[in-house]
Amino acid sequence: MLRKLSFALALFLGFCHSVKAQDAKNILQSATKSMGAPKSIQYSGTGHLGSLGQAYSPGSTWPENNITAYTRTIDYSSLSSKEELTQVEPSPIRRGGAAPFAGEQKQVNLVSGQYAWNQPGAAPQPASAAAEERQIQIWLTPHGFLKAAMENNATAKKGSGGTVMSFMDGRLKVNGTIDNQGLITRTETWLPNPVLGDMLVETTYSGYKDFNGVKFPTMIVQKQGGYPVLDLAVTDVRANVDLALTVPDAVRSAKAPPVTVTSQKIADGVWFLAGGTHNSVLVEYPNYLVMIESPLNDARAMGIMAEAKKLVPDKPIKYLINTHNHFDHAGGIRAFVAQGATIITQEMNKPFYERAWKAPRTLDADRLAQNPKKTTFITFKDKYFLTDGGRSLEMYRIDGDNHNAGMVMVYLPKEKILVEADDFTPAAPNAPSTGPRAHAGTVNLYEDLQRMKLDVVTIAPLHGFVVPFSEMQKAATPQVSSLSQN
Ligand SMILES: [Zn+2]
Repeated sequence: MLRKLSFALALFLGFCHSVKAQDAKNILQSATKSMGAPKSIQYSGTGHLGSLGQAYSPGSTWPENNITAYTRTIDYSSLSSKEELTQVEPSPIRRGGAAPFAGEQKQVNLVSGQYAWNQPGAAPQPASAAAEERQIQIWLTPHGFLKAAMENNATAKKGSGGTVMSFMDGRLKVNGTIDNQGLITRTETWLPNPVLGDMLVETTYSGYKDFNGVKFPTMIVQKQGGYPVLDLAVTDVRANVDLALTVPDAVRSAKAPPVTVTSQKIADGVWFLAGGTHNSVLVEYPNYLVMIESPLNDARAMGIMAEAKKLVPDKPIKYLINTHNHFDHAGGIRAFVAQGATIITQEMNKPFYERAWKAPRTLDADRLAQNPKKTTFITFKDKYFLTDGGRSLEMYRIDGDNHNAGMVMVYLPKEKILVEADDFTPAAPNAPSTGPRAHAGTVNLYEDLQRMKLDVVTIAPLHGFVVPFSEMQKAATPQVSSLSQN
């Protein structure tokens, strides 16, 4: 009865725009009564995992893998969460990016307080860059939201679909909607993203059911940057399960790895810049330099710029060539814009970058946000040659690429070097199979090269290491693809 009265009050207050502090508290207390207040929760199900920033074409939905098993356990008082999931790539082969794999891939993603790590095997892998997101994800769950809203004196105002409660957790703003039955139907926050700026993270909860006195949604959909990164059909919920996480010493003492850039001269005036997860290639022209790819973020961009300056101190970087719009390959472009370089990219990327780069960047103001500058683009549809002073770079859109619709490779005709991203990544010895999707991408690129009669001797891949063309030939032949039957 009291609960009903309280919601009647909330509804009445809806006619006013904002809700008084005491009433905001009452709404939270009533919602806590409706939903239950477990100390910890464990929920399981199946669904789909979307890969943020890995769309097949710019502006389209994130590509999805199937989640065949999912269990997440959260302990609200110790700010700990353990997410265990098994994913498989869909069949037939899907389009778009994200690291390809064969068979099943298991993940165990953990956070405890300020420490985040992954532990799919025996050895924990520190994941300090993920800590902020994993912490806030605890407060984005229905019961987590109620607890954090209460502790942080959330304010309330009437919104569409119910009362919207808001609070700050550190630098992050969190909103949540409570409907007229006292159920959390939606939570949202914003996280910094190198391409999208302050990126909306919105989670909707529906199909609430009672699980032994605790109400929990049976459908969870989280969108980041406008498209789902997770949808989950929840089949099992348990309240007050134990989650006693011990932060491993290796995680506690881990420091964020510094940006490391190594250089390898692969031809006269051509350097392969590696040292991290993503490579770049620097090319010297008579009066300027050209960088192929500025991956990840501002920090990586600064690293490769510094290396260029060390290798060729007296020439500016006039052009940056971008192979495709996946965020891990495009996150460092803005730093080159800030530095005054012209961006060369396939034509479908320009409107996407222009739109994405307009977003506010209050959470992580990069160099371009601090010193705004108009971007100069050179775009092309199928090919573009940058020929000057006896040096030539040939850019071609890769026909039939399953990884990205606007995927571009760069060919150095004199040196017979091919620079390519994601279609062929040389495998380290004993590396697990990357599966049928990766193989299809390699075969397609290989066949394109044959059709175009490009004479390639060396592959300078934007992941992995420089190899002779024969390595790619081997990877593209059917014998090597026996694992693709999985
Ligand atoms: Zn990619």
